Amino acid sequence: MTFILIRLLGLAGALILSYAFGTWLGGVRIGLITALTLALLVYAQHAISAHRLLNWLTRAEPSNIPNLNGFWDDVAAQLFKMLRTHQRQQHEMQEALASFRTAAQALPDGVVSLDPMGHIMWCNTKAQTHLGLRMSTDAGQPIINIVRNPAFSNYLSLQNWDNALVMRSPRSGSKVLSIQAVKYANQQLLVLSRDITQVEKLERMRQDFIANVSHELKTPLTVLSGFLETIRDLPLSEEQRLHYVQLMHTQADRMRNLVDDLLTLSSLESAPIQGHQRELIDLSLLAQQAFEHGQMLSAGTHELMSNIEPDLSVLGQTSELYSALSNVVSNAVRYTPNGGTIRVSLSKAENDLGKPCAVFTVQDTGIGIAAEHIPRLTERFYRVDRSRSRESGGTGLGLAIVKHVVQRHEGTLEIESRPNVGSIFKIELPLTFPLKIMEIF
Ligand code: ADP
Repeated sequence: MTFILIRLLGLAGALILSYAFGTWLGGVRIGLITALTLALLVYAQHAISAHRLLNWLTRAEPSNIPNLNGFWDDVAAQLFKMLRTHQRQQHEMQEALASFRTAAQALPDGVVSLDPMGHIMWCNTKAQTHLGLRMSTDAGQPIINIVRNPAFSNYLSLQNWDNALVMRSPRSGSKVLSIQAVKYANQQLLVLSRDITQVEKLERMRQDFIANVSHELKTPLTVLSGFLETIRDLPLSEEQRLHYVQLMHTQADRMRNLVDDLLTLSSLESAPIQGHQRELIDLSLLAQQAFEHGQMLSAGTHELMSNIEPDLSVLGQTSELYSALSNVVSNAVRYTPNGGTIRVSLSKAENDLGKPCAVFTVQDTGIGIAAEHIPRLTERFYRVDRSRSRESGGTGLGLAIVKHVVQRHEGTLEIESRPNVGSIFKIELPLTFPLKIMEIF
């Protein structure tokens, strides 16, 4: 205020002086003209300074302060200071935004930010993959025009996003996404997408597994309790009673086999074999034992032949490997009609990488398996013929156990089969030194 007052007083003084000077020179008229001319000159100078200041301000990048006169210079200095502060703040904000975007790019989930109208402002690469967006062409577009899914549109139109939406990815139908919207800042929306394909698959497997186990246990239990009621309620002869007890025993065995197989599977799936748990195993001996187990099961109803190369040894776990070999042999016996032939062999070979391996082969002339079933045989509870498997005491878990054991021993399982001709199950395991050589050390 004082500053303006001093300036105004200075201007008024200059005008009075010029008026007095003009009057002294040529009278009142000249005095007025001199004062007016001075006032015009001062006005012109202010107009020029204001014009220069305006020009400077309208330039895109105001840099150096223009050379101005009087208090315009102070105004320009003040404005320059403000502009500099504003520029610095803008720069800091841009850097913060860039680092936020870099962080959002690194997220394992998709992130899309939408303006209050639901138009795409920005999205990371994961969101582009999940939702089929393309930043270069889709920025500024309403997201529901690009992700054309009624469930997605309905979800975004909600005002309460406590729960996530589960939907198939519009980019790849095999992917399942969990979509979660979150409101932020001024009515803006973040849409987060997460790939839950694997989680969904595991959940489905868990549900199927529980349903299968319950079903498998329920059937023999129902039969068992039916027999128990019969024994309790009916007057039976000793012979009939023994017959029912025998049938009950069969059902109890079935349940025990199932529980045993479930426990085996769960221990196989729980942890990989530790180094110290691996022992040098005489695979030839295990193959011979599995063959004898087959002979016992067949009880002379098949022709069983063996060709087992001696002294082949592998590193691993005896009980697991025996369970795998005997499962394959017992399947051959169970799925080969009486009078059929079963050949069990163990020999040394080279695997695809040229490394020595042991090949355990069981070939039968049984009922065989149609090609479409072969890839699914190692799934838990998968059976080609449910009733046949049950009749022969199968649990539907045998080949799942075989697959796990073979994988845990870095081996492979191959299945070849033709319906009504027979099957070949081949287990390949990496070979270690033959036992005899090891004994020398
Ligand atoms: P299961 O207890 O039912 O035998 P597995 O897991 O051992 O269960 O085998 C899965 C299915 O594979 C069996 O139900 C059967 O249909 C088929 N299978 C296995 N081995 C043979 C074989 N040697 N010949 C024909 N089918 C077989």
